[in-house]
Amino acid sequence: MKLRLSQHVRRYKEYKKHLRKNIRYTHNLNRFAINELKKDKIKRKCPICNIPDSTFVFKAPVCEFVKCKKCGLVYAKYIFSEEGVQRFYENNKYYQDGWKTDHDVLLKNIKENKLSKPPIVDTILKFSKKKGKCLDIGCGFGELLYHLKPHFKSVEGVELNVFTSKVGAELFDITIHNEELTKLKLKSSSYDCIILNQVIEHLDSLDLFNKVNRLLKPRGILYLGCPYMDSLSMKLLKDKHIHINGIGHINMFNFHSFRKFAEKYKFNILSIETDNKLDVWFNDQISLLFNRKFLHRFTDIPFLNPINVGSYLLSNWFFNKTKLLSKNRLGSYLKVVLEKK
Ligand SMILES: [Zn+2]
Repeated sequence: MKLRLSQHVRRYKEYKKHLRKNIRYTHNLNRFAINELKKDKIKRKCPICNIPDSTFVFKAPVCEFVKCKKCGLVYAKYIFSEEGVQRFYENNKYYQDGWKTDHDVLLKNIKENKLSKPPIVDTILKFSKKKGKCLDIGCGFGELLYHLKPHFKSVEGVELNVFTSKVGAELFDITIHNEELTKLKLKSSSYDCIILNQVIEHLDSLDLFNKVNRLLKPRGILYLGCPYMDSLSMKLLKDKHIHINGIGHINMFNFHSFRKFAEKYKFNILSIETDNKLDVWFNDQISLLFNRKFLHRFTDIPFLNPINVGSYLLSNWFFNKTKLLSKNRLGSYLKVVLEKK
């Protein structure tokens, strides 16, 4: 009993350390982004409709979000200049620190044989009938490609981060191109499946989807995963939600904006659904009421933690069992499968 208690104390201390580090990381990143926007900023139009007509949605910590009057996309009104983006992704030590933390977790999981298969692997295998070439754009370390590799003739990735692309290629023995997709010389009509998972919400221009369409074979599959604007958690937390309370996510899609997107870039939608996650912990809700510096997913009220963990497990069990969120299109993330027209 004594040993178990000390184990719990140790684990809780580790958790606190991790929380503190993440809170510091998020605040530093936001400060960096706000300063960049003060130096120079560019006003955006809707990246789908290319028109400026929009209505105000909310003021997030880093910048204001507006909704396109035509397609319903909610997007950040301002972004950094091109030099600002370069500085942000290449020289920002906070950003690099984030990747290093992910790297430590990945190495630990590989060592302990705990690389679990993400659910989207089955979705991709189900819809991509032909298993020739598969390309993952914004692949990070290439973990998804590692799970898809046994099923396709060949897999390759595109990743702009020098560190992750190099480490991932070596770790998983896969080709990862460290260059922008638009500059890469890849063969047209040669891919059966292209993936952009948790990428589209970061993109200033969506015009790379013209190239994605060209690269796909006729009836080739495009898988997109991204945060969902009309989710229950976004309705509850609004500008406090982790999806937009930092920097990086500048496009928030819903079902309607995806239909307009598919039309523009010449795709048919084969499947569009939300997941079954609520993404609001009990602590979040309590903390939101009292804490002005509230950070979604990073709140900690020690004596409420057992309720927090309990309510998390219970809500996960409940929503998985009833599929209430996906049935009502209220889950936190969108999963979209498209087919080249
Ligand atoms: Zn629009």
